[in-house]
Amino acid sequence: MIAKVEPLTTARALRGPFDYRVPGRMADVGVGSMLVVPFAGRRLLGVVVEMADRSEVPAERLVEPLEALDRGVPAELVRLGLWVAEEYCSTPARGLALVLPPGTGTSGSKVGIRRALVASITSAGRAALAGEERLGERQRAVLAALEATPMPAAELGHGTVRSLEARGLVTVSNAERRRRPQIEGVGARGPAEARLTADQSRSLARIEQLLDDGGGHLLLHGATGSGKTEVYLRAVAATLERGRSAVVLVPEIALTPQTAGRFEQRFGDQVAVLHSKLSAGERHDEWLRLRRGEARVCIGPRSAVFAPVRDLGLIVIDEEHDASYKQEGDPRYDARRVAERRAEKAGAVLLAGTATPRPESRLRLDRLRMPERVDGRGLPPVELVSMAGSSGALHTRTRDALVEVRRRGEKAIVLLNRRGWSNFLTCRGCGRAWECPSCDVTLVMHRAKGRIACHHCGHSEAVPSSCPDCGSLSVARHGAGTERIEAELAELLDPFPVFRLDADAASGRGAILSVLQRFEQAESGVLLGTQMVAKGHDFPDVTLGVVLDADSTLRFPDFRAEERTFALVAQLAGRSGRGARGGRVLVQTLDTDARALRFAARHDADGFLDGELKRRELLGYPPFAQLVRVVCACEEPGPEAAAAAELHARIAAAAPSVRLLGPAPLFRLKGRDRAQLFVKAPAEGPERMAAVRAVRHAVEAVAADRSYRGVVLSVDVDPQ
Ligand code: ADP
Ligand code: ZN
Ligand code: ZN
Repeated sequence: MIAKVEPLTTARALRGPFDYRVPGRMADVGVGSMLVVPFAGRRLLGVVVEMADRSEVPAERLVEPLEALDRGVPAELVRLGLWVAEEYCSTPARGLALVLPPGTGTSGSKVGIRRALVASITSAGRAALAGEERLGERQRAVLAALEATPMPAAELGHGTVRSLEARGLVTVSNAERRRRPQIEGVGARGPAEARLTADQSRSLARIEQLLDDGGGHLLLHGATGSGKTEVYLRAVAATLERGRSAVVLVPEIALTPQTAGRFEQRFGDQVAVLHSKLSAGERHDEWLRLRRGEARVCIGPRSAVFAPVRDLGLIVIDEEHDASYKQEGDPRYDARRVAERRAEKAGAVLLAGTATPRPESRLRLDRLRMPERVDGRGLPPVELVSMAGSSGALHTRTRDALVEVRRRGEKAIVLLNRRGWSNFLTCRGCGRAWECPSCDVTLVMHRAKGRIACHHCGHSEAVPSSCPDCGSLSVARHGAGTERIEAELAELLDPFPVFRLDADAASGRGAILSVLQRFEQAESGVLLGTQMVAKGHDFPDVTLGVVLDADSTLRFPDFRAEERTFALVAQLAGRSGRGARGGRVLVQTLDTDARALRFAARHDADGFLDGELKRRELLGYPPFAQLVRVVCACEEPGPEAAAAAELHARIAAAAPSVRLLGPAPLFRLKGRDRAQLFVKAPAEGPERMAAVRAVRHAVEAVAADRSYRGVVLSVDVDPQ
């Protein structure tokens, strides 16, 4: 047999796959096997992407692999990884890297199965425990512990175990020891088996029907608090009943601990989690539990869409509007599209749920509607508060509402999507603004750290006390971020507790979890932060939601700005009034007429989507077209623009039917001058693929052209 092997190398120029003759002693080799192969005098690790009877390569030049590893990838995932590479203009090696067992480097496995000495009790041991045999206190304790389950000798004490082994009371063997991550939930609440509402039952029935009918794509469009999670849980249970497996994607495990916790609570050991904060060993072992079918439910962020589950039946995408489903580095895949593809190939059901669907999902997926909150409580009233002509960060209405929350001993959530103390600093003498030396952006002041920092490249410097240009000692601070609002709230509401949740106050999984836990456990208080506070949290005692500077996101020149603003405000509003006391929401804005805000204030996702889809169609934007963005960057100005012009010419020649926008200069980032080019193609079909292919060929040609040395190219299909 011939194995076609794709080498796992980062070199873009190396175009596989390459043929190798599989010897009889490697009879198990098939698609997905990992092989060490000789290549140009080197040893390379590769993945078998296809098996064939014959090769084009003359027999005398065919060589054999050096070694077949005892690990591999399901064939289904090999195909998915290659599809991602193709679809997102990446390389096969990068596409395949997404589906490899965790801990696989380019030279082979770095992490393996962990083994340990495990002690088990023998029948003589049981008899000894029950009978009158003389046992030391420790020995008796160890035997008693082993009566329930075998345990690692290291946990019991090697000395005691060895003495018991010598007496034939226990046996010791070298066994696999799984490393299992902990899922900590914030109040993983929820009735074990709630009676479903009529909407929930109807949704579940449709999901079960598709499970039995070979799959399909569903959008679960349910109001905040309509009980979507319970539908996911039941859908997973229905999948397991049918002997199949489920993948549940969540925006970020750290930010959605409640969801992960509820799955663990319901399905116990059948759940595996996969995310980047696990240790390499834990990730490896969870992956293996899924691969072997020992765990049948996988929970994780976008990368879990590649989980090696057995017989996939269901993929759930929770909060499908969340931006984290798009990967930022190459390959810039969108887990929602990958999930759609994977479900389709596996005959599985895709279930994407949210209160604020993306136009893409509204257009492409069959919709299940759950417009009511579970307990019949209405959605909270939302007031738009005009900040026109007002100077402080908090309107009097907002201040009054917060003081009222303190008086009644309730809870509030305040959202401001901007961290730091002040947005930017200027000199009152000469007007100088403090900017990043490497990026064309202003530096944000962080008072606690005493620094001004760039949020793009990480550059930071001490807060200036005078102007280096004119010597003036008067430096003005503009705009307020979460750090400053925290101080204002603390002063306004003292001694009411204020919990801040943003990337500065809580970075890392433990810290985020701890802020959420402290807020949940507090009698009353305010949770303040960036968009992190608007994720799917379910805190029934929150009675007030506040959005500050709600239209700030509308000022970005991005066709998705309205969609984002609508989702953010509607999601934050959805955190309020989930309990018996009801709730309300205040939205501070300069522009109370903004369409996204007006619809969000009415909780009218349908109205917003209808208008948004019409507008997108008129302008020829996604989901009615496919956008590809190419960015050229260079450490000295000039070559990036030339490279972009060359790309433009090549793409225009290869795919005359696509529309090209640009190249246009882009603000400097991390010391690099940049130019970008947009390619607009039809949303579906062969013309779309032709456009993507034309871009890939043009990028490869320019990347290989020595006259553009020093230019870094990046391609983003379906940029967000
Ligand atoms: P969503 O994800 O749609 O915002 P959740 O799944 O967080 O809503 O549900 C909101 C609350 O309602 C949760 O506390 C959940 O336990 C509860 N809940 C869900 N379904 C039911 C039901 N059928 N009966 C009673 N309570 C329910
Ligand atoms: Zn100055
Ligand atoms: Zn910078």
